Amino acid sequence: MDIVLMGAPGAGKGTQAAKLENALGFKHISTGDVLRAEIASGSELGNQIAAVIDRGDLISDEMMVSILKNVVSGTDKNIIFDGFPRTVAQAEMLNNMLVQLGRKLGKAIEIALPEEEAVRRLSSRKQCKLPSGEVRQIGPDFTLADCQAQRGELFTRTDDTPEHIRHRFSVYHKQTEPVICFYRSTGLYAEVNGNADCQKVFDDLLAVLKQ
Ligand code: AMP
Repeated sequence: MDIVLMGAPGAGKGTQAAKLENALGFKHISTGDVLRAEIASGSELGNQIAAVIDRGDLISDEMMVSILKNVVSGTDKNIIFDGFPRTVAQAEMLNNMLVQLGRKLGKAIEIALPEEEAVRRLSSRKQCKLPSGEVRQIGPDFTLADCQAQRGELFTRTDDTPEHIRHRFSVYHKQTEPVICFYRSTGLYAEVNGNADCQKVFDDLLAVLKQ
């Protein structure tokens, strides 16, 4: 059973998806990470993607789904989708893709967080690039000290500046919030409160998955 994890930028989707991956053996697919890996490969496609991400806009639905399909068809584990779908068209394409691949969506869970808190978190978040190229977000599960101990390089995402954050929220309200209504109408929707400590949010997610 696959899961979609939804929520505004900064709601904690990436952190919680990584915890669920560790605890339950899911494959965590973050479309943001998939796109950043394409950029890091230096391909022409990566250059086009970089320009869109740097503006804080969304990659076209067709491009996103075709990139994602390769990743999804490469695993037989249950998947947690993080950062996808971000439009209703992507949600419809995901349904078709899962049917084609003989997979099933079990839940679409929103981590709900007030916008002021999400903006506060994004404005102060830091990433760590490890010598292997792996990028970890600094937080309770991977601290600043872990980053230093592993000789990582600390950086801020280019789309985490105040003006990019504002733009990403306007894109979120316009294009991604309708996805929540889409899943509400399917009966797959569940909500957890993201305005709590990391462990409490995780426990709430586990409880939803057990229902
Ligand atoms: P994230 O790491 O999820 O915050 O994503 C970073 C950026 O990647 C977004 O602001 C978009 O530009 C792009 N992106 C990630 N996921 C998607 C998606 N499902 N559809 C379109 N663009 C995406």
